Amino acid sequence: MAAAGTERSRIVIAGGGLAGLSLALALKRALADGVDVVMCDPALARDPHGDRRSFAIAAAARRMFEALGLWEAVSAKAQPILDMVITDSSLQDPVRPTFLTFEGAVDGEPFAHMVTSGDLTAVLLDACRSGGVSLRPEGVTGFTLRGGHTDITLAGGETLSAALLVAADGARSRLREQAGIGWIFWPYKQSGIVATISHERDHEGRAVEHFLPAGPFAILPLADEVQADGSVQHRSSIVWSERSENVPALLESHPEDLLAELEKRFGLQLGTIAFETKPQAYPLAFGVARSFVGERLALLGDAAHLIHPIAGQGLNLGLHDVAVLAEIIADSMRLGMDPGSADVLMQYERARRADITAMGIVTDGLNRLFSNDMLPVRLVRDLGLGLVDRMPGLKRFLIREAAGLRRDDAPRLLKGQTL
Ligand SMILES: Cc1cc2nc3c(=O)[nH]c(=O)nc-3n(C[C@H](O)[C@H](O)[C@H](O)COP(=O)(O)OP(=O)(O)OC[C@H]3O[C@@H](n4cnc5c(N)ncnc54)[C@H](O)[C@@H]3O)c2cc1C
Repeated sequence: MAAAGTERSRIVIAGGGLAGLSLALALKRALADGVDVVMCDPALARDPHGDRRSFAIAAAARRMFEALGLWEAVSAKAQPILDMVITDSSLQDPVRPTFLTFEGAVDGEPFAHMVTSGDLTAVLLDACRSGGVSLRPEGVTGFTLRGGHTDITLAGGETLSAALLVAADGARSRLREQAGIGWIFWPYKQSGIVATISHERDHEGRAVEHFLPAGPFAILPLADEVQADGSVQHRSSIVWSERSENVPALLESHPEDLLAELEKRFGLQLGTIAFETKPQAYPLAFGVARSFVGERLALLGDAAHLIHPIAGQGLNLGLHDVAVLAEIIADSMRLGMDPGSADVLMQYERARRADITAMGIVTDGLNRLFSNDMLPVRLVRDLGLGLVDRMPGLKRFLIREAAGLRRDDAPRLLKGQTL
C-alpha cells in the first residue's frame, strides 16, 4: 500500500453534507493511515445547526453509524419512530380517516429514528476531526486529469493531487457538470416547508403522514428537549409539501395566519402548537445522473440522485452510496489497487444503478398518485391503502423496505459490520 499523503492514497471529498462526512469517516475508520482523506466545503466554517431539517434515519443507516462508533452519541438526541399512521383527505374534510397503520419495529429495532440535521452533522464533524480527516473550509472550484491522478483546485487557489475526487456537492453539483455527466431532471412544482414544531402533548413516537391535494404533510416525532427551567418540551418536525406558487405568500404571511394554516394540516391531537424554528422551504425535484462515475471521479448522495421526500429516503439513499463506495475503496486499497481506477469505479456504478433507479421511480410514482385530488384517483388509492392495511405480510415487507433491511447482499456497513 502506498504511504499516506502521496497522491496515490489521497482521496478528496468535495462537499461536507451528511453523505460526504459519512464517507470521509468510513474511509478513515477502515484504512487509518493507509488513506489521506481531505474534506473540502466552505460550509465547514458554519454552525451545523443552521440547517433546520430533520431526517428519518432508516435502521440500515443506523447500523452503519453504530459500526462507525457514532450511534451512542447520536442516539442521545434521536427519537425512535414507534408507529406510523397514514391518512388521505382534502384540507376541508372535518375528519381524517386512517387508511393505513404500521408498527415501527422490524427485526426487534425501530425501522427508523428521527434526528435533526444539526445534531447528526455535529457528531459526524467531531468524529471526522478526531479520526484524522483533514477538514478544509473551502470549496473545490475544478479539477484537471493528469495521467495517473487528478489535480483539484480549491477556492483559495491551492492545488491538491489525488487518486480520486468524490463529488458530494449536492444536487446542483458543479463538479458533475464540469465532468460533463448528464443529469435527468424535472421539477415537481412543489416545495417542502420544514420546521420544528413544539406541542403540548407527547407524540409517543408516532409519525403521521397526511396525503393532501397539494402534497404530503408529514409530522415526524423528535426527541423531547429539556428546557433551562427543567420543563420538557415535546417537539415534532414537519415536512409540508405545498404548491411552489403558494409558498412565498405563506412564508411571508403574519405569524398568526401561518400558524392557522399549519393547524389546519397538523390537527389538534397534540394540543396547542407553536413554531420552534422559522420555516424554511426547499424546492422539490427529481434528478438522476446518467453516470455515477467519471474519470477519477465518483458522485455521491444528492450529487448523484435527487428524490421527493415523500418516503423520507433521500439521505438514506446517499448513506447507502457511502456504505458501498467505502467498501469498494477499502477492499481495493487493501489489495494495493488504485482507488480512482476505472475498474474500481465501475464496481460502484454497477452496485448502485438499480437501487437508485428503483427508488426514484417509486417516490416519483407515489407523489403523482397522492398529490392528486381527482375523486376517482382518491377512491382507488384509498381502496389500495385499505387493502394493504389488511395484509400483514405485505406491511412487513414494506416496513423492511423502508428500514433498508430487505437485502442479503447489502454492503457490510449497512449490516452493522466494520470494514
Ligand atoms: C424537505 C426535505 C425533507 C427531507 N427529509 C428526508 C428524510 O427524512 N430522510 C432522508 O433520508 N432524506 C430526506 N431528505 C433528503 C436529504 O435532505 C438529502 O438527500 C441529503 O441532505 C443530501 O445530503 P448530501 O450530503 O448528499 O448533500 P447536501 O446536504 O446538499 O450537501 C452538499 C454539500 O456540498 C457543499 N458544496 C457545494 N458545492 C461545493 C463545492 N464546489 N466544493 C465543496 N463543497 C461544496 C455544500 O456546502 C453542502 O454542504 C429531505 C429533503 C428535503 C428537501
